[in-house]
Amino acid sequence: MTPMLRLYNTLTREKAAFAPIDPTNVRMYACGPTVYDAAHIGNARPIIVFDLLFRLLRHLYGPEHVTYARNVTDVDDKINARALERGITIRALTDGTLAQFHKDIRDLGVLMAEDVNRAGAPVRFIEPRATDHIGEMHRLIEGLVAAGHAYVAEGHVLFDVPSMPDYGALSKRPLDEMEAGARVEVAPYKRSPLDFVLWKPSKAGEPSWPSPCGIDAPGRPGWHIECSAMSWKHLGKTFDIHAGGIDLIFPHHENEVAQSRCCFGTDVMANVWLHNGFLQVEGEKMSKSLGNFITIRQVLDDWPGEVVRLNMLKTHYRQPIDWTLRGLEESSRMLDRWYEAAGEAAPDAAVPGGVVEALGDDLNTPAAIGELHRLAGSDAGALKAGAGLMGFLPTTKAQREAERVGAAGIDVARVEALIAERKAARAAKDWAASDRVRDALTALGVSVKDNKDGTTTWTVAG
Ligand code: AMP
Ligand code: ZN
Repeated sequence: MTPMLRLYNTLTREKAAFAPIDPTNVRMYACGPTVYDAAHIGNARPIIVFDLLFRLLRHLYGPEHVTYARNVTDVDDKINARALERGITIRALTDGTLAQFHKDIRDLGVLMAEDVNRAGAPVRFIEPRATDHIGEMHRLIEGLVAAGHAYVAEGHVLFDVPSMPDYGALSKRPLDEMEAGARVEVAPYKRSPLDFVLWKPSKAGEPSWPSPCGIDAPGRPGWHIECSAMSWKHLGKTFDIHAGGIDLIFPHHENEVAQSRCCFGTDVMANVWLHNGFLQVEGEKMSKSLGNFITIRQVLDDWPGEVVRLNMLKTHYRQPIDWTLRGLEESSRMLDRWYEAAGEAAPDAAVPGGVVEALGDDLNTPAAIGELHRLAGSDAGALKAGAGLMGFLPTTKAQREAERVGAAGIDVARVEALIAERKAARAAKDWAASDRVRDALTALGVSVKDNKDGTTTWTVAG
């Protein structure tokens, strides 16, 4: 039986049943970070959303039947400028930023290459770096020139937009609108204002590689060609799903489509195009100048990664999301409730149908979370299994508690001793002593609960 998955496709503007080209190798690509600075909480959205899609596809088709490539853009104007500013090499900057990015997203419960790829098995999760694919970019660029879709001008290679009759089909922007936008700053060597750069000369101090198409001076690739090269190398000329933030539809994805299709003579680059909506903070667009720019790490300093993940997935991925303190508090309470309900239960072998069904409906995470909420009141094993599919509840209640105690640096022996002292004081009806002990426990960051059965339990104060 074909697994049921419906996805909203930006290319057709419709939700349709997903049918992979090859169900034994479902292939998805997501545009990843440009590694020049710490990633912000908006950047975390596509990472978390498409991680969830990857998990769902692995569940539906089998983990060995899904390949995911999420690239790293490590050549870019912002990277050059930042490396110069900091007086370090570009490689040192991109390596350092990428290492930090990995730490950030691991804490968000995102599947990492080391979780997915097994020794001796085909690589299923790839993080290609642009600078490792200059050879593929050369081949694409030379193929486009040979096919009459690109031309050389003043050390640049440009894509000839009018040579592609259905250019603009993804973003569905009218040609005159795109032209008006492009006319703002038209380089004199462009035949049409819409033409975009595939390769350009490097300025002094910028990274450079030998140029394609017989151009003497060294140069560097344009942004769009990187993703055409990396997706081709790792997923093929045509693949199943291409994903990214909504801001990438035009021009980035439109230009990727133009390059790949015109070079390979194919009808589509990817069959399904998915785009996540934007994140804003407390009702405002996030920006450095407004002072509401938050990095993933800053959020993780205050909240567990699991709370951040839940808070991101509470909103459907195509909707805009408003990132608020209130939302985080709510997500934190929701997780507490789930941990409480799951207790020490082992996950059921089967993931509950309601959760799979909700996610299969264009990743309807609000409905899936609603389903987990329902299961939290009725079935601990099913809750664990459903939550597990979404990357939640990786530990039991007791393990989580132990981790929190460890993280808070609480002296467990001292807490136990104080609780015994409190019990003795209460037995002797010495209320003043009992209150003093309770204050001492509060000072240690512990909250105490007296249970109906006469036992006393404690937790790290939230
Ligand atoms: P960048 O590093 O700016 O190329 O962005 C990396 C990814 O994050 C892209 O898929 C962007 O679309 C996405 N992105 C950037 N800002 C936001 C935001 N505020 N909300 C949601 N996604 C974003
Ligand atoms: Zn891309």
